Amino acid sequence: MKIAVLPGDGIGPEIVAEAVNVLNALGESFTLEEAPVGGAGYEAQGHPLPDSTLALAKAADAILFGAVGDWKYDSLERALRPEQAILGLRKHLQLFANFRPAILYKELAGASSLKPEIVSGLDILIVRELNGDIYFGQPRGVREAPDGPFAGAREGFDTMRYSVPEVQRIAHVAFQAAQKRSRKLTSVDKSNVLETSQLWRDTMIDVSKQYPDVELSHMYVDNAAMQLVKAPKSFDVVVTGNMFGDILSDQAAMLTGSIGMLPSASLDKANKGLYEPSHGSAPDIAGKGIANPLATILSAAMMLRYSLGKTEQADRIETAVKKVLAQGLRTPDIWEAGTQKVGTREMGAAVVAAL
Ligand code: NAD
Repeated sequence: MKIAVLPGDGIGPEIVAEAVNVLNALGESFTLEEAPVGGAGYEAQGHPLPDSTLALAKAADAILFGAVGDWKYDSLERALRPEQAILGLRKHLQLFANFRPAILYKELAGASSLKPEIVSGLDILIVRELNGDIYFGQPRGVREAPDGPFAGAREGFDTMRYSVPEVQRIAHVAFQAAQKRSRKLTSVDKSNVLETSQLWRDTMIDVSKQYPDVELSHMYVDNAAMQLVKAPKSFDVVVTGNMFGDILSDQAAMLTGSIGMLPSASLDKANKGLYEPSHGSAPDIAGKGIANPLATILSAAMMLRYSLGKTEQADRIETAVKKVLAQGLRTPDIWEAGTQKVGTREMGAAVVAAL
């Protein structure tokens, strides 16, 4: 089994190194091959997603990704900015289904910004569509406003679009994920205002007829944002479009205390996937050795489960992470009084030892 390892920028190389150590400790015969991506890709080959990196990602059975981005690239033209690498990989590999679990480990209940009774035992899965919506819709650009009260002024515009087959595709993934959990699916949209959302909702209802065992409900995105902080445990599986999912999954992440704990998977229709922590490259703490590697280690566990068919090994990693938290080890982002503060490498080494 070939795994493409794309560490990227900022804390990416630090946290990916720990996940690689964990994978190597499993004693499986994986081939791990590394390539530059993001700012590192731009430095090495003048493009955030060099051809050789894309070729490796295409040839691999799964991709372990760190994070991309650094403020120093903000002045580059958009096509050369590091973030384009992740958008490009999603597009080229047709990774349309993003799984973002938000699980609150009982040891971390105090790290959440919400009261422990509201969040303890939280276990939500957000399924976000990744290939469509306003992030990819054409036309887009900056032009002279053709009409309206500001005609003639410079205006920016983007296009929100979803087709029925695109919504059906993510709907099936979400219904099937709900079948494996508590059979409750909440579809989040803004159908009171947006045509795209009305089509989304109609299509969800249509697909739901094939899953009579799953209870489908609908919620407007503004209400979903409120309910996520008011009664987050009322959700189980949430399915939503690219932009709403981007925002709600970060919000759900914070319910768990730290974005440094949250893995993610982006899958194609054959379950090949790209696995990455939900957070970015955290340039503010890069090189300090304090980044939390657990989201990346847990992403490697998701990779074993979803793309490589190694459920038992995935369980082993997740159990090792729980063990390390129970031992009281914490990186600074999840530290609280009475626990032991450790750095990235010590946390990774503790997971390897717990394995
Ligand atoms: P970020 O997720 O990188 O950081 C937000 C905050 O969380 C920072 O305070 C950071 O220190 C902290 N943080 C993030 N990961 C952490 C970890 N593992 N351990 C401890 N603390 C952690 O988001 P940002 O600051 O908005 O963006 C920074 C860069 O990352 C930007 O260039 C952005 O475009 C990029 N980004 C990349 C991805 C990706 O690669 N998929 C995703 C989001 C943002």
